Amino acid sequence: MRAVRGGHPWVYADRIAHANRPGAPGELAALYDPHDRFLGLGLHDPASPLRVRVLHAGPPVTADDAWWRARLRAALARREGLFDADTTGFRLVHGESDGWPGLVLDRYGGVLVLKLYTSAWLPWLELLSAQIVEELRPSRLILRLSRNIREAAATQGLEDGGEWSREGREELPLPAPALPSRPWRPSRDTTPVVFLETGLRFEADVVRGQKTGFFLDQRENRRLVGELAAGRDVLNAFSFSGGFSLYAARGGARRVTDLDISPHATAAAGRNFTLNRHLPSVAAAAHETVQADAFDWLVTPGPKFDLVVLDPPSLAKRETERVGAVAAYRRLAGLGLARLRPGGVLVTASCSAHVLAEEFFGAVRDALRRGGRRFEELRTTGHPPDHPATFPEAHYLKCLYARVA
Ligand code: SAH
Repeated sequence: MRAVRGGHPWVYADRIAHANRPGAPGELAALYDPHDRFLGLGLHDPASPLRVRVLHAGPPVTADDAWWRARLRAALARREGLFDADTTGFRLVHGESDGWPGLVLDRYGGVLVLKLYTSAWLPWLELLSAQIVEELRPSRLILRLSRNIREAAATQGLEDGGEWSREGREELPLPAPALPSRPWRPSRDTTPVVFLETGLRFEADVVRGQKTGFFLDQRENRRLVGELAAGRDVLNAFSFSGGFSLYAARGGARRVTDLDISPHATAAAGRNFTLNRHLPSVAAAAHETVQADAFDWLVTPGPKFDLVVLDPPSLAKRETERVGAVAAYRRLAGLGLARLRPGGVLVTASCSAHVLAEEFFGAVRDALRRGGRRFEELRTTGHPPDHPATFPEAHYLKCLYARVA
Protein backbone atom coordinates (compact mmCIF):
# COMPACT_ATOMS: atom_id res chain seq x y z
CA MET A 1 0.00 0.00 0.00
CA ARG A 2 3.01 2.22 0.53
CA ALA A 3 3.72 1.49 -3.13
CA VAL A 4 0.35 2.96 -4.14
CA ARG A 5 1.04 6.09 -2.11
CA GLY A 6 4.43 6.31 -3.80
CA GLY A 7 2.77 6.24 -7.22
CA HIS A 8 3.19 2.57 -8.20
CA PRO A 9 0.31 1.64 -10.53
CA TRP A 10 -0.10 -2.09 -9.83
CA VAL A 11 -1.82 -3.83 -6.92
CA TYR A 12 -1.47 -7.62 -7.05
CA ALA A 13 -4.30 -9.86 -5.79
CA ASP A 14 -2.20 -11.21 -2.92
CA ARG A 15 -1.71 -7.69 -1.56
CA ILE A 16 -5.44 -7.17 -1.11
CA ALA A 17 -6.49 -8.20 2.42
CA HIS A 18 -10.20 -7.71 1.92
CA ALA A 19 -12.58 -6.86 -0.91
CA ASN A 20 -16.14 -5.95 0.10
CA ARG A 21 -17.52 -7.80 -2.97
CA PRO A 22 -16.20 -9.67 -6.02
CA GLY A 23 -16.46 -6.77 -8.50
CA ALA A 24 -16.90 -6.86 -12.27
CA PRO A 25 -14.14 -6.33 -14.86
CA GLY A 26 -13.43 -2.64 -15.22
CA GLU A 27 -15.38 -1.54 -12.18
CA LEU A 28 -13.75 1.29 -10.31
CA ALA A 29 -12.21 0.02 -7.08
CA ALA A 30 -11.61 2.34 -4.14
CA LEU A 31 -8.40 1.39 -2.32
CA TYR A 32 -8.00 1.79 1.46
CA ASP A 33 -5.01 1.19 3.69
CA PRO A 34 -5.22 -1.12 6.78
CA HIS A 35 -6.37 1.90 8.82
CA ASP A 36 -9.26 2.47 6.42
CA ARG A 37 -7.72 5.62 4.98
CA PHE A 38 -8.52 6.22 1.32
CA LEU A 39 -5.53 5.53 -0.91
CA GLY A 40 -6.81 5.91 -4.41
CA LEU A 41 -8.89 4.64 -7.25
CA GLY A 42 -8.18 1.87 -9.71
CA LEU A 43 -9.58 -0.36 -12.45
CA HIS A 44 -10.66 -3.74 -11.13
CA ASP A 45 -9.40 -6.68 -13.20
CA PRO A 46 -10.72 -9.94 -11.66
CA ALA A 47 -9.15 -12.08 -14.43
CA SER A 48 -5.62 -10.91 -13.70
CA PRO A 49 -3.23 -11.43 -10.75
CA LEU A 50 -2.62 -7.73 -11.32
CA ARG A 51 -5.97 -7.14 -9.64
CA VAL A 52 -6.20 -3.35 -9.52
CA ARG A 53 -4.54 -0.91 -11.93
CA VAL A 54 -4.26 2.39 -10.14
CA LEU A 55 -5.75 5.38 -11.92
CA HIS A 56 -5.43 7.88 -9.13
CA ALA A 57 -3.52 7.98 -5.84
CA GLY A 58 -4.37 10.67 -3.32
CA PRO A 59 -7.52 12.29 -1.91
CA PRO A 60 -10.96 11.12 -3.12
CA VAL A 61 -12.11 12.26 -6.57
CA THR A 62 -15.33 12.00 -8.52
CA ALA A 63 -14.66 9.86 -11.57
CA ASP A 64 -17.12 11.60 -13.88
CA ASP A 65 -16.84 12.41 -17.59
CA ALA A 66 -14.95 15.64 -16.83
CA TRP A 67 -12.39 13.73 -14.75
CA TRP A 68 -11.70 11.27 -17.60
CA ARG A 69 -11.45 14.11 -20.07
CA ALA A 70 -8.96 15.98 -17.87
CA ARG A 71 -6.77 12.86 -17.72
CA LEU A 72 -6.81 12.56 -21.49
CA ARG A 73 -5.96 16.24 -21.90
CA ALA A 74 -3.08 15.90 -19.41
CA ALA A 75 -1.51 13.13 -21.51
CA LEU A 76 -1.96 15.14 -24.72
CA ALA A 77 -0.46 18.23 -23.05
CA ARG A 78 2.67 16.22 -22.19
CA ARG A 79 3.36 15.84 -25.96
CA GLU A 80 2.95 19.51 -26.77
CA GLY A 81 6.04 20.91 -28.44
CA LEU A 82 7.78 17.51 -28.74
CA PHE A 83 7.32 17.14 -32.48
CA ASP A 84 7.19 19.39 -35.52
CA ALA A 85 5.29 18.82 -38.76
CA ASP A 86 8.00 16.37 -39.95
CA THR A 87 6.88 13.84 -37.36
CA THR A 88 3.21 12.88 -37.57
CA GLY A 89 3.53 9.44 -35.96
CA PHE A 90 3.98 9.32 -32.20
CA ARG A 91 2.44 8.10 -28.98
CA LEU A 92 -0.23 10.24 -27.35
CA VAL A 93 -0.99 8.03 -24.35
CA HIS A 94 1.56 5.56 -22.98
CA GLY A 95 -0.18 3.33 -20.47
CA GLU A 96 0.62 3.39 -16.76
CA SER A 97 3.26 6.10 -17.05
CA ASP A 98 0.61 8.47 -18.45
CA GLY A 99 -2.03 7.48 -15.88
CA TRP A 100 -3.77 5.11 -18.32
CA PRO A 101 -2.74 1.60 -17.18
CA GLY A 102 -2.93 -1.01 -19.93
CA LEU A 103 -4.00 1.49 -22.60
CA VAL A 104 -2.09 3.05 -25.49
CA LEU A 105 -3.13 5.70 -28.00
CA ASP A 106 -0.93 6.27 -31.06
CA ARG A 107 -1.22 8.79 -33.83
CA TYR A 108 -0.33 8.14 -37.48
CA GLY A 109 -1.12 11.34 -39.31
CA GLY A 110 -4.88 11.80 -39.00
CA VAL A 111 -5.43 8.19 -37.93
CA LEU A 112 -5.57 7.25 -34.27
CA VAL A 113 -5.03 3.75 -32.93
CA LEU A 114 -6.34 2.86 -29.49
CA LYS A 115 -4.85 -0.33 -28.09
CA LEU A 116 -6.17 -2.08 -24.99
CA TYR A 117 -4.12 -4.59 -23.01
CA THR A 118 -6.74 -5.40 -20.37
CA SER A 119 -10.45 -6.18 -20.64
CA ALA A 120 -10.95 -3.83 -17.68
CA TRP A 121 -11.12 -1.02 -20.25
CA LEU A 122 -13.99 -2.54 -22.24
CA PRO A 123 -16.80 -1.02 -20.11
CA TRP A 124 -15.18 2.40 -20.58
CA LEU A 125 -14.64 2.15 -24.29
CA GLU A 126 -17.68 4.11 -25.43
CA LEU A 127 -17.02 7.00 -23.09
CA LEU A 128 -13.32 7.06 -23.97
CA SER A 129 -13.68 6.81 -27.71
CA ALA A 130 -16.28 9.57 -27.72
CA GLN A 131 -13.89 11.82 -25.78
CA ILE A 132 -10.93 10.91 -27.99
CA VAL A 133 -12.92 11.77 -31.10
CA GLU A 134 -14.09 15.06 -29.62
CA GLU A 135 -10.65 16.10 -28.40
CA LEU A 136 -8.56 15.01 -31.40
CA ARG A 137 -10.96 14.89 -34.38
CA PRO A 138 -9.19 11.98 -36.11
CA SER A 139 -10.00 10.97 -39.68
CA ARG A 140 -10.26 7.40 -38.34
CA LEU A 141 -10.07 5.72 -34.94
CA ILE A 142 -8.92 2.09 -34.96
CA LEU A 143 -9.32 -0.30 -32.02
CA ARG A 144 -6.59 -2.85 -31.35
CA LEU A 145 -6.89 -5.55 -28.71
CA SER A 146 -4.07 -7.56 -27.18
CA ARG A 147 -4.41 -11.28 -27.83
CA ASN A 148 -5.41 -12.11 -24.24
CA ILE A 149 -8.55 -9.94 -24.29
CA ARG A 150 -9.91 -10.73 -27.77
CA GLU A 151 -12.25 -13.43 -26.54
CA ALA A 152 -13.77 -11.22 -23.84
CA ALA A 153 -14.14 -8.38 -26.36
CA ALA A 154 -15.81 -10.64 -28.93
CA THR A 155 -18.64 -11.38 -26.49
CA GLN A 156 -19.34 -7.64 -26.63
CA GLY A 157 -19.23 -7.46 -30.41
CA LEU A 158 -15.75 -5.90 -30.51
CA GLU A 159 -12.98 -7.18 -32.75
CA ASP A 160 -9.28 -6.45 -33.10
CA GLY A 161 -8.82 -3.93 -35.91
CA GLY A 162 -12.36 -2.54 -35.60
CA GLU A 163 -13.05 1.04 -36.55
CA TRP A 164 -15.08 3.70 -34.80
CA SER A 165 -17.78 5.07 -37.01
CA ARG A 166 -19.90 8.13 -36.50
CA GLU A 167 -22.83 6.54 -38.28
CA GLY A 168 -22.60 3.40 -36.16
CA ARG A 169 -25.77 3.96 -34.26
CA GLU A 170 -27.90 4.84 -37.26
CA GLU A 171 -26.67 1.82 -39.21
CA LEU A 172 -27.85 -0.64 -36.64
CA PRO A 173 -31.32 -2.11 -36.50
CA LEU A 174 -33.02 -0.88 -33.34
CA PRO A 175 -30.96 -2.22 -30.44
CA ALA A 176 -32.55 -4.33 -27.77
CA PRO A 177 -32.67 -2.22 -24.62
CA ALA A 178 -30.32 -4.52 -22.70
CA LEU A 179 -27.69 -4.42 -25.44
CA PRO A 180 -26.43 -0.90 -26.14
CA SER A 181 -25.29 -0.36 -29.70
CA ARG A 182 -21.59 0.16 -30.19
CA PRO A 183 -20.14 2.54 -32.73
CA TRP A 184 -17.49 -0.02 -33.76
CA ARG A 185 -17.43 -1.83 -37.09
CA PRO A 186 -14.86 -4.02 -38.86
CA SER A 187 -12.44 -1.73 -40.75
CA ARG A 188 -13.43 -1.34 -44.38
CA ASP A 189 -10.03 0.01 -45.34
CA THR A 190 -7.09 -2.22 -44.41
CA THR A 191 -4.42 -0.53 -46.55
CA PRO A 192 -1.47 0.73 -44.49
CA VAL A 193 -1.49 4.36 -43.38
CA VAL A 194 1.46 6.54 -44.48
CA PHE A 195 2.88 8.95 -41.90
CA LEU A 196 6.07 10.96 -41.32
CA GLU A 197 8.87 10.36 -38.85
CA THR A 198 11.52 13.12 -38.85
CA GLY A 199 10.65 13.71 -42.51
CA LEU A 200 10.87 10.06 -43.60
CA ARG A 201 7.74 8.38 -44.94
CA PHE A 202 6.68 5.09 -43.42
CA GLU A 203 3.64 2.90 -43.71
CA ALA A 204 1.87 1.50 -40.66
CA ASP A 205 -0.49 -1.45 -40.86
CA VAL A 206 -2.79 -0.06 -38.19
CA VAL A 207 -5.47 -2.74 -38.56
CA ARG A 208 -3.34 -5.90 -38.47
CA GLY A 209 0.29 -4.96 -37.77
CA GLN A 210 2.32 -5.65 -34.62
CA LYS A 211 1.79 -3.27 -31.68
CA THR A 212 -0.26 -0.48 -33.33
CA GLY A 213 1.42 -0.84 -36.73
CA PHE A 214 4.90 0.58 -36.12
CA PHE A 215 7.61 0.63 -33.46
CA LEU A 216 7.32 4.29 -32.55
CA ASP A 217 9.48 3.78 -29.45
CA GLN A 218 12.71 3.38 -31.48
CA ARG A 219 12.55 6.82 -33.14
CA GLU A 220 15.48 8.29 -31.16
CA ASN A 221 17.69 5.26 -31.73
CA ARG A 222 16.87 5.32 -35.44
CA ARG A 223 17.90 8.98 -35.54
CA LEU A 224 21.23 8.19 -33.84
CA VAL A 225 21.86 5.33 -36.27
CA GLY A 226 21.24 7.78 -39.11
CA GLU A 227 24.00 9.99 -37.70
CA LEU A 228 26.46 7.08 -37.53
CA ALA A 229 25.75 5.62 -40.97
CA ALA A 230 27.61 7.78 -43.53
CA GLY A 231 29.62 5.65 -45.94
CA ARG A 232 28.89 2.43 -44.07
CA ASP A 233 27.55 -1.00 -44.97
CA VAL A 234 24.71 -1.57 -42.55
CA LEU A 235 23.02 -4.71 -41.29
CA ASN A 236 19.60 -4.11 -39.74
CA ALA A 237 18.73 -7.38 -38.00
CA PHE A 238 15.13 -7.83 -36.80
CA SER A 239 14.39 -5.02 -39.20
CA PHE A 240 10.57 -5.12 -39.20
CA SER A 241 9.60 -2.55 -41.88
CA GLY A 242 13.13 -1.16 -42.26
CA GLY A 243 12.93 1.77 -39.84
CA PHE A 244 16.62 1.80 -38.90
CA SER A 245 17.62 1.22 -42.54
CA LEU A 246 15.77 4.23 -43.88
CA TYR A 247 17.52 6.47 -41.37
CA ALA A 248 20.87 4.85 -42.25
CA ALA A 249 20.24 5.35 -45.97
CA ARG A 250 19.24 8.97 -45.48
CA GLY A 251 22.39 9.42 -43.38
CA GLY A 252 24.54 8.29 -46.30
CA ALA A 253 24.97 4.55 -45.81
CA ARG A 254 26.43 2.81 -48.87
CA ARG A 255 24.42 -0.37 -48.52
CA VAL A 256 21.70 -1.48 -46.13
CA THR A 257 20.51 -5.02 -45.49
CA ASP A 258 17.20 -5.66 -43.77
CA LEU A 259 17.02 -9.04 -42.09
CA ASP A 260 13.73 -10.33 -40.66
CA ILE A 261 12.06 -13.69 -40.26
CA SER A 262 8.73 -12.34 -41.53
CA PRO A 263 8.08 -11.95 -45.26
CA HIS A 264 5.53 -9.23 -44.42
CA ALA A 265 8.27 -7.25 -42.67
CA THR A 266 10.79 -7.48 -45.53
CA ALA A 267 8.07 -6.60 -48.06
CA ALA A 268 7.09 -3.55 -45.99
CA ALA A 269 10.77 -2.53 -45.82
CA GLY A 270 10.88 -2.60 -49.62
CA ARG A 271 7.79 -0.40 -49.84
CA ASN A 272 9.19 2.05 -47.29
CA PHE A 273 12.33 2.45 -49.41
CA THR A 274 10.15 3.15 -52.43
CA LEU A 275 8.24 5.76 -50.43
CA ASN A 276 11.49 7.66 -49.79
CA ARG A 277 13.23 7.35 -53.17
CA HIS A 278 12.75 11.09 -53.70
CA LEU A 279 15.56 11.61 -51.16
CA PRO A 280 18.87 11.47 -53.07
CA SER A 281 20.77 9.60 -50.34
CA VAL A 282 18.04 6.98 -50.05
CA ALA A 283 17.99 6.54 -53.83
CA ALA A 284 21.79 6.20 -53.81
CA ALA A 285 21.94 3.51 -51.11
CA ALA A 286 21.87 -0.11 -52.20
CA HIS A 287 19.04 -1.90 -50.38
CA GLU A 288 18.57 -5.61 -49.95
CA THR A 289 16.28 -7.72 -47.82
CA VAL A 290 16.94 -11.14 -46.34
CA GLN A 291 14.13 -13.25 -44.97
CA ALA A 292 15.69 -15.55 -42.37
CA ASP A 293 15.99 -16.37 -38.69
CA ALA A 294 18.55 -13.82 -37.52
CA PHE A 295 20.23 -16.21 -35.06
CA ASP A 296 20.72 -18.84 -37.81
CA TRP A 297 21.80 -16.28 -40.40
CA LEU A 298 24.34 -14.66 -38.09
CA VAL A 299 25.83 -18.00 -37.02
CA THR A 300 26.47 -18.96 -40.65
CA PRO A 301 29.66 -17.39 -42.06
CA GLY A 302 28.73 -14.46 -44.28
CA PRO A 303 29.44 -10.84 -45.24
CA LYS A 304 30.79 -8.25 -42.81
CA PHE A 305 29.40 -4.80 -42.10
CA ASP A 306 30.48 -1.44 -40.67
CA LEU A 307 27.31 -0.96 -38.61
CA VAL A 308 25.15 -3.71 -37.15
CA VAL A 309 21.77 -3.01 -35.53
CA LEU A 310 20.20 -5.75 -33.40
CA ASP A 311 16.64 -5.01 -32.29
CA PRO A 312 15.01 -8.36 -31.48
CA PRO A 313 11.48 -8.80 -30.15
CA SER A 314 11.20 -9.20 -26.38
CA LEU A 315 13.23 -12.30 -25.50
CA ALA A 316 11.67 -12.50 -22.01
CA LYS A 317 7.89 -12.30 -22.11
CA ARG A 318 7.71 -13.42 -18.47
CA GLU A 319 9.93 -13.37 -15.42
CA THR A 320 10.78 -17.08 -15.71
CA GLU A 321 12.40 -16.40 -19.10
CA ARG A 322 14.67 -13.67 -17.78
CA VAL A 323 17.87 -15.68 -17.26
CA GLY A 324 17.58 -17.37 -20.66
CA ALA A 325 16.91 -14.02 -22.27
CA VAL A 326 20.03 -12.42 -20.80
CA ALA A 327 22.06 -15.33 -22.20
CA ALA A 328 20.38 -14.88 -25.61
CA TYR A 329 21.17 -11.14 -25.66
CA ARG A 330 24.80 -11.96 -24.85
CA ARG A 331 24.95 -14.53 -27.61
CA LEU A 332 23.29 -12.24 -30.12
CA ALA A 333 25.70 -9.38 -29.33
CA GLY A 334 28.61 -11.80 -29.86
CA LEU A 335 27.20 -12.87 -33.22
CA GLY A 336 26.71 -9.24 -34.29
CA LEU A 337 30.23 -8.39 -33.19
CA ALA A 338 31.67 -11.19 -35.31
CA ARG A 339 30.06 -9.58 -38.38
CA LEU A 340 31.68 -6.18 -37.75
CA ARG A 341 34.68 -4.93 -39.72
CA PRO A 342 37.42 -3.07 -37.82
CA GLY A 343 36.10 0.32 -36.71
CA GLY A 344 32.52 -0.90 -36.98
CA VAL A 345 29.68 0.08 -34.65
CA LEU A 346 27.34 -2.30 -32.83
CA VAL A 347 23.90 -1.00 -31.83
CA THR A 348 22.02 -3.50 -29.72
CA ALA A 349 18.61 -3.05 -28.09
CA SER A 350 16.34 -4.88 -25.68
CA CYS A 351 12.61 -4.28 -25.23
CA SER A 352 12.16 -6.85 -22.45
CA ALA A 353 10.66 -5.29 -19.33
CA HIS A 354 11.82 -8.33 -17.35
CA VAL A 355 15.48 -7.72 -18.20
CA LEU A 356 16.81 -4.73 -16.28
CA ALA A 357 18.94 -2.17 -18.07
CA GLU A 358 22.11 -2.97 -16.12
CA GLU A 359 21.62 -6.70 -16.70
CA PHE A 360 21.27 -6.16 -20.44
CA PHE A 361 24.19 -3.75 -20.69
CA GLY A 362 26.27 -6.16 -18.58
CA ALA A 363 25.52 -9.03 -20.97
CA VAL A 364 26.44 -6.93 -24.03
CA ARG A 365 29.69 -5.69 -22.42
CA ASP A 366 30.49 -9.27 -21.54
CA ALA A 367 30.03 -10.32 -25.16
CA LEU A 368 32.22 -7.44 -26.30
CA ARG A 369 35.00 -8.45 -23.87
CA ARG A 370 34.74 -12.10 -24.89
CA GLY A 371 35.09 -11.03 -28.51
CA GLY A 372 38.70 -10.16 -27.68
CA ARG A 373 38.68 -6.86 -29.60
CA ARG A 374 39.21 -3.44 -28.09
CA PHE A 375 35.95 -1.52 -27.93
CA GLU A 376 34.72 1.89 -26.95
CA GLU A 377 31.23 2.26 -25.53
CA LEU A 378 29.68 5.26 -27.28
CA ARG A 379 26.48 5.55 -25.26
CA THR A 380 23.43 3.89 -23.81
CA THR A 381 19.86 5.10 -24.31
CA GLY A 382 16.45 4.52 -22.75
CA HIS A 383 12.95 5.82 -23.36
CA PRO A 384 11.91 8.59 -25.77
CA PRO A 385 9.80 11.41 -24.31
CA ASP A 386 6.48 10.24 -25.82
CA HIS A 387 7.01 6.85 -24.09
CA PRO A 388 7.64 8.01 -20.49
CA ALA A 389 8.58 5.46 -17.82
CA THR A 390 7.61 6.51 -14.30
CA PHE A 391 8.13 3.30 -12.28
CA PRO A 392 10.76 0.54 -12.34
CA GLU A 393 8.84 -2.08 -14.38
CA ALA A 394 8.02 0.49 -17.06
CA HIS A 395 11.65 0.78 -18.20
CA TYR A 396 11.53 -1.82 -20.93
CA LEU A 397 13.61 -0.14 -23.64
CA LYS A 398 17.39 0.03 -23.54
CA CYS A 399 20.07 0.26 -26.18
CA LEU A 400 23.87 0.22 -26.19
CA TYR A 401 26.20 1.65 -28.83
CA ALA A 402 29.83 0.47 -29.10
CA ARG A 403 32.64 0.97 -31.61
CA VAL A 404 35.01 -1.97 -31.99
CA ALA A 405 38.62 -2.03 -33.15
N1 SAH B 1 13.73 -2.55 -35.45
C1 SAH B 1 12.33 -2.51 -35.82
C2 SAH B 1 11.46 -3.22 -34.83
C3 SAH B 1 11.81 -4.68 -34.62
S1 SAH B 1 10.49 -5.64 -34.01
C4 SAH B 1 11.91 -1.06 -36.05
O1 SAH B 1 12.68 -0.13 -35.81
O2 SAH B 1 10.78 -0.85 -36.49
C5 SAH B 1 11.12 -7.25 -34.05
C6 SAH B 1 11.15 -7.90 -35.42
O3 SAH B 1 11.87 -9.11 -35.27
C7 SAH B 1 9.79 -8.27 -36.00
O4 SAH B 1 9.66 -7.69 -37.27
C8 SAH B 1 9.83 -9.81 -36.12
O5 SAH B 1 9.25 -10.29 -37.33
C9 SAH B 1 11.31 -10.06 -36.16
N2 SAH B 1 11.76 -11.39 -35.68
C10 SAH B 1 11.27 -12.12 -34.65
N3 SAH B 1 12.02 -13.22 -34.47
C11 SAH B 1 13.00 -13.19 -35.40
C12 SAH B 1 14.09 -14.04 -35.73
N4 SAH B 1 14.32 -15.17 -35.04
N5 SAH B 1 14.90 -13.69 -36.76
C13 SAH B 1 14.67 -12.56 -37.46
N6 SAH B 1 13.65 -11.72 -37.19
C14 SAH B 1 12.82 -12.02 -36.19
